[in-house]
Amino acid sequence: ELHNTLVELKGNIRVHCRIRPLLPLDCELDDPILQNGSDSREVAHAVDEETILVRCDRPGHPLINKTYNFERVYGPAEPQTAVFADVCPLLTSLLDGYNVCIMAYGQTGSGKSYTMLGPELPSDAHSDLGLIPRAVEEFFRLISENPSGSPKVDVSILEIYNNDIFDLLAKDSSTVVSGVKRDVVTTQDGCTEVPLLTRGAITSVLEFMELFHQGLRLRAKNPTLVHADSSRSHLIVTVTLTTATSLASTDQQPGQTLPGKRTRASERWSSAHQASPPGSVPVDPVGSRKQVWSRLQLVDLAGSECAGMSGVTGLALRETSFINRSLAALADVLGALSEHRGHIPYRNSKLTHLLQDSIGGDAKLLVILCVSPGQKHVAETLQSLGFGTRAR
Ligand code: ADP
Repeated sequence: ELHNTLVELKGNIRVHCRIRPLLPLDCELDDPILQNGSDSREVAHAVDEETILVRCDRPGHPLINKTYNFERVYGPAEPQTAVFADVCPLLTSLLDGYNVCIMAYGQTGSGKSYTMLGPELPSDAHSDLGLIPRAVEEFFRLISENPSGSPKVDVSILEIYNNDIFDLLAKDSSTVVSGVKRDVVTTQDGCTEVPLLTRGAITSVLEFMELFHQGLRLRAKNPTLVHADSSRSHLIVTVTLTTATSLASTDQQPGQTLPGKRTRASERWSSAHQASPPGSVPVDPVGSRKQVWSRLQLVDLAGSECAGMSGVTGLALRETSFINRSLAALADVLGALSEHRGHIPYRNSKLTHLLQDSIGGDAKLLVILCVSPGQKHVAETLQSLGFGTRAR
């Protein structure tokens, strides 16, 4: 309760920034200082829990000396548990009927996947787990504490590549490949919907992880995506919580909010659900009951370094321009929201259209800016910090 109130007071869009540790990939090959193990080329520093300083003094370059403030700044030594501790209140909001979106923004190699998923190599250490498995684990723990309302939980996994949406849980029986193309539409009641989207029912974090790994594996088999580095596409994991309640019932159920506090998307009638493909989970079609739902969207964005890239051609240029446009569309949506403009341009990209119900209104958004501390990446770091500053 108290947590939620604090989150509400701080507004619906929060921006955190995480500086990862210095890694060999931050090294300039001809950099004798770094090769000697010195950290003198670290240019991004967490000054305190809300301030990041970027200081870079290179011969022949103008001095960079800038500080940025965010709701939270994590230094390189801060563990996954510290990041997750700040996410927990959002999961409580989810059970209260709010839509929640958590996204990682940053250049390739800045720690987005580490933050969202965990380390690249499978690790036994629970302490390494990223936000996505932790969030789902905590979510089920909260549900188990709140057993009323018989909530149903399902998951879908999507990828956006070159402005096309791929359903990573869909099994196309005619071929061995997976990752079926889908589209996003706005329904009559103004909600965002992906027709025919595969939604796998889950009752535990273990079942979630099984589908999650299945989705990530199938993605690698998709001929359209096989050449695409994961950093060239946006990954969106959506966990939907549905509680079916009798229309006559006046009981407050989990997933249902107090009158007047409902999100536009958190309430709908069962008839609004689309027909589901084989293998997916049809949502309870009981006509006389009202379905109340909320959505958690977890997003690993494509690498933002593409935003200013020049001199690339062919496939890479095509990818770059799509990533460019979708991240620019995201920045426009966040900018329009922070300026309280009347029209929010969600429809300018599939990314923002897909996330429409989770960004704006009374939905809660957390953007985690991931940055490298290295001098080599200072331009991209400043770009990411600028993105985060404009989003607030
Ligand atoms: P991105 O998803 O932004 O391309 P990654 O998450 O793959 O970046 O991170 C790049 C490398 O840095 C990986 O080897 C990852 O394990 C490592 N890394 C990132 N963040 C951290 C961190 N906070 N602590 C330790 N290693 C990290």
